[in-house]
Amino acid sequence: MYHVTSRKAEEFIDHGEIQETLAYADAHKEDAVLISSILRKAKEGKGLDHREASVLLACTLPDKNEEILNMAKKIKEDYYGNRIVLFAPLYLSNYCINGCTYCPYHGKNKTIPRVKLTQDQIRAEVMALQDMGHKRLAIESGEHPIYNPIAYILESIDTIYSIKHKNGAIRRVNVNIAATTVEEYKMLHDAGIGTYILFQETYHKESYEQLHPTGPKSDYAYHTEAMDRAMEGGIDDVGLGVLFGLEKYRYEFAGLLMHAEHLEATFGVGPHTISVPRICPAEDIDLNAFTDAIADDTFAKIIACIRIAVPYTGMIISTRESAKMRARALDLGISQISGGSRTSVGGYTTEERPEDTVQFDVSDRRSLDEVMKWLMELGYVPSFCTACYREGRTGDRFMALCKAKQIQNCCLPNALLTLKEYLSDYASPATQIEGERIIKQFMPQVTNPVARDTLANRLTLIEQGERDFRF
Ligand code: SF4
Ligand code: SF4
Repeated sequence: MYHVTSRKAEEFIDHGEIQETLAYADAHKEDAVLISSILRKAKEGKGLDHREASVLLACTLPDKNEEILNMAKKIKEDYYGNRIVLFAPLYLSNYCINGCTYCPYHGKNKTIPRVKLTQDQIRAEVMALQDMGHKRLAIESGEHPIYNPIAYILESIDTIYSIKHKNGAIRRVNVNIAATTVEEYKMLHDAGIGTYILFQETYHKESYEQLHPTGPKSDYAYHTEAMDRAMEGGIDDVGLGVLFGLEKYRYEFAGLLMHAEHLEATFGVGPHTISVPRICPAEDIDLNAFTDAIADDTFAKIIACIRIAVPYTGMIISTRESAKMRARALDLGISQISGGSRTSVGGYTTEERPEDTVQFDVSDRRSLDEVMKWLMELGYVPSFCTACYREGRTGDRFMALCKAKQIQNCCLPNALLTLKEYLSDYASPATQIEGERIIKQFMPQVTNPVARDTLANRLTLIEQGERDFRF
């Protein structure tokens, strides 16, 4: 029985409710009157529920589909302007006891070397990331009680925050590790993490159990209820995601939005971010086994419909996707991207991109500097901003600002400040020229005269060597 505030996974992600939603969406996929009324509601920027959004996703009317894409672009512009936040993943360990059939780190895979970084190796990786210009990381680790216990993760976070190398600093560590207990979430919260990210992979319980035959992750309810425990442990910025291609995408889409609705209804705060990974090639993974893989146009529409349904939630796309797909996704709603990523353990300290410990193949293999220049040429303002959680703007405080569109007053000036830091410390000459052009172009968009003066003053101070200003 569907119950949005239930603490039981099978009630807040109720299979019957998803099936009814899909049937409703099918019945109305050519219902121009209903679709127009949903779009009118969406235009107010207050979001849509999973049924309304599912109708948009199912819609087969070409003119309405055009409107959906345009609406997503408009909402993206209204809430996020032109800024795009950059981050990098940092793989700590690929030891894993789970049996996820789509991931090369699964415990039974004997064809890959197993690596776990020491604290010294983490230091070296972080310095390499700082030398690229990164300020925000997402740490990734397999699940292993002996190799990767919580003590190792906490020590690693501490190490990462402690490294001050040249002008570099990692100012926000997001954490993507296996579902755990309230106690351990409290420890992560006390360690000062940014967002806790955990992908559901699939919301379809039966498929979930087939795809996760062994290990603690095989427990669907424990995994699906993880964000509730994280919030109980004090983490109020959580990041959702499904691995599109494991199940029928419309099922996943409805489940994802129901999960967001559950968090909002139960804890008063929805997900901070939603990631949209797609199944892609990797070592020991047979892509032919995944018949629900989705095409680019469908993927673009999913991104647009998520953007419309949850306008205040950041959306993330990784280097799994090509530069071309990423450009399209940025236009439709993505607000954060990774850049210069290596998806292998220890990948940032090796000259050659290592291939033997990668979790997934990287499609966008450009350097961070190339990605920065590309973003600016597309008219975006790349940002390394980490201000909100450092200013205590998390959870419901953040969401309130976001929903009122007031967060924009901070985002653009912070984007310009962190861009200026990047240009001063790391950019190639060509990127510097592009960056100075962008700063000049976007300064006038900071409309509050006091904020604009403060910004101009701080930009000068950065030129003189000062760092880490924030609004
Ligand atoms: S997806 Fe995560 S839990 Fe599953 S095998 Fe890979 S690293 Fe382990
Ligand atoms: S001001 Fe807050 S919401 Fe805006 S980019 Fe910075 S951290 Fe993100």
